[in-house]
Amino acid sequence: EKCVECGACIDVCPVSALSLPSADKEEVAAGEPAGKTPVMQNVSSNSEIPADEPKETAVQLTGDLGRYQGVWVFIEQREGEIAPVSLELLGVGRQLADKLGVELAGVLLGDSVCGLQDGLYEYGADKVYLVDHPVLRYYRTETYMQVFVKLVQVYLPEIILMGATTTGRDLAGAMATDLATGLTADCTALDIDTKQRLLLATRPAFGGNIMATIVCKNHRPQMATVRPKVMKMSKPVPGRQGQLVTPQVDLNEKDLLTRVVEIVKEHGEQVNLQDAEIIVAGGRGLGDREGFQRICFGLAEAIGAKVGASRAAVEAGWIEQKYQVGQTGVTVAPKIYFALGISGAIQHLVGIRGSDIIIAVNTDPEAPIFKECTYGIVGDVFKVVPALMEPLKELLS
Ligand code: FAD
Repeated sequence: EKCVECGACIDVCPVSALSLPSADKEEVAAGEPAGKTPVMQNVSSNSEIPADEPKETAVQLTGDLGRYQGVWVFIEQREGEIAPVSLELLGVGRQLADKLGVELAGVLLGDSVCGLQDGLYEYGADKVYLVDHPVLRYYRTETYMQVFVKLVQVYLPEIILMGATTTGRDLAGAMATDLATGLTADCTALDIDTKQRLLLATRPAFGGNIMATIVCKNHRPQMATVRPKVMKMSKPVPGRQGQLVTPQVDLNEKDLLTRVVEIVKEHGEQVNLQDAEIIVAGGRGLGDREGFQRICFGLAEAIGAKVGASRAAVEAGWIEQKYQVGQTGVTVAPKIYFALGISGAIQHLVGIRGSDIIIAVNTDPEAPIFKECTYGIVGDVFKVVPALMEPLKELLS
């Protein structure tokens, strides 16, 4: 309401995501981008990539989709440690690339990260695009997007996959906007329509009530993000080799709008449910905070498990949001998942389907969780869990 349409924000937006309403009346279809006409540079694949090359030297994208080839995975790293989700995506990326008969490449950006590429070949990459530059030491939307977009414009991949992490979500959205292409976020399955060479990106839609398969027919690259632990990590092949490509970029700290002043690590207990082997999760059926503490934390402590929760338990204030499992919480893939007093709403189930074994305890024999679980116990958690505590402790701890 306060906007006077002066346009000042458009000039300073680092990801060129803003436009004036009067200049942006295009309709938006599902899986397709909003906004400007897609453009790309017409440069040879071995040329240097100047960071400030203007986009006006571009050719039209539409009708030219066949030039885009290959599957790329963004290799997210922090302080030289690769995020496991990137390796998981190399696994599914390998399957997609094989179906298309194209190469799988990893895109590794950072400072002093040269050397990490060897592990990526072992996880399935045929090629790694490595940009090693001091300016890329910490993730910043501006720099990572600038470099990644240039790589896309030069090497023309048809598919880009990223982890749906804080970084991946930010980068993917910014890049899709800049490249004027479609992005499907938080996919739970990826496949290829080999006839049309389309990425089939499946994700829950309408509050999780349906699974929608989304395609991006008219623009390239096709982009998708996937949450950690949704895809299984494939086994590495020791000694597998690949090709390293090291494009040169022209980046200067002084040209950037943002500066990293300090990294402050979060204090307090870190909850890492994604890597937990056993999770004891509780829902509204635990009655109150005291019941949740006694049953959930009690069993978890006895068997050396981590605690998780349904959204109902979080909203009741029995436990913090960071413990929430499901569509708007974390996706988990433990060996054993205990669902105690959890009904099994679809939004919860999408977060636990990667579990090897699901054990559910619920008083209602019709609860949807019983259709998904490996072992179901119809009964009161306050009776069942104390009775199982000792045998489970002996078996699991
Ligand atoms: P309820 O559905 O109320 O189930 C409680 C269960 O406990 C019942 O089945 C009952 O039979 C059983 N019970 C009661 N007493 C006992 C007892 N003494 N012993 C044993 N069993 C007992 N939910 C999530 O969990 N995670 C999410 O990420 C998430 N995201 C959402 C996103 C959207 C957009 C929306 C719309 C919803 C989301 N939800 C999410 C909410 C979800 O739809 C459910 O409301 C929620 O999962 C229900 O939690 P619950 O199973 O603990 O509670």
